[in-house]
Amino acid sequence: MSESADRDPRFPAALRISLALFVVVWIFGPRELRAAVPVWVAFAIALGLELHFFAGALRDAPSPRRDRRPQDVDRERFGYDDDTDDLLLVRDGDEDLWIPYSGESDEEVEELIAAARDQVEEDVGTTAPPDWERERGRVWPPVRGLLTGLLVIAALALVIRFVDSRTGWGSVAGDKRAAAVERFSEEASRIAGKPVTIRCDESRDYVGLVQHADGVAAVGGDNAYLTPERCFDLYRLAFEGETTSSQTARAIAVLAHEAWHLRGVDDEGTTECYALQTGVDLGQRLGLSEGTARQMMRQQLVENALRGGASAEYRVPAECRDGGRLDLDRSDTRFP
Ligand SMILES: [Zn+2]
Repeated sequence: MSESADRDPRFPAALRISLALFVVVWIFGPRELRAAVPVWVAFAIALGLELHFFAGALRDAPSPRRDRRPQDVDRERFGYDDDTDDLLLVRDGDEDLWIPYSGESDEEVEELIAAARDQVEEDVGTTAPPDWERERGRVWPPVRGLLTGLLVIAALALVIRFVDSRTGWGSVAGDKRAAAVERFSEEASRIAGKPVTIRCDESRDYVGLVQHADGVAAVGGDNAYLTPERCFDLYRLAFEGETTSSQTARAIAVLAHEAWHLRGVDDEGTTECYALQTGVDLGQRLGLSEGTARQMMRQQLVENALRGGASAEYRVPAECRDGGRLDLDRSDTRFP
């Protein structure tokens, strides 16, 4: 960001409006956006930029001593008005004396200086603003800007919190959430071949903040974490019989994927290949018809092939096909 952009007062305003717009779109926009982009990333960026603006504004704040012309406080102090033709600056020790000059003789000027000096001696420590007051005048505008920014961020965070508690995983009653988590764990244990625990991470300590993964599991471990969005998709399917095609499919694939990691599979592509195959049975156990479950996992496999860039490591290997090395059931000609 350029120096001039930093100083442009419209930038903080534009930032706050952008954040507000993003929050609105995040709340009312497509579910895909909510699933793909953790809203806290936007808040973290906004907070960083507010601090950046604050630092820039503080650095650029004008020093009140930079202006050598008589200040308002000087005018008040020496008692002349704005009509005076000229002002003479006379250095008198540490003091600057401003003498109104309208063609007076030397003697008259001496008298004016003497008068001004007397005035200063009278005033010392009374009218001159103390340093802290000048400093406050310099620092306050950037601080006010920062406080405004923080207030906007805090208000939007409260809105998100409120919406979260009314919709999604957070809106599901505690006992139902416990029952759902138990059910997910049961299904994952079946795939992992040992008792494992699935958690729907609400604190987001493990999931979502940076890597925006849908879930996390230690290879060969006993615990896996899914994002609240994925848990809610699974909950809607298993407990309410509701599906949102691509979201539901993704959630089934993620639960199976983490379960395969817990079983001990390390490679991401292989894990995903196994997940999509077991996802057909898993989907049926959670309430889908066989046809829908199979179609969903096939769609996931098609989408997997389109992956690239940062998520390329999750792409399934070429052996992930009917009769291939990664085919879990070679007697079955359907895949997945
Ligand atoms: Zn994985």
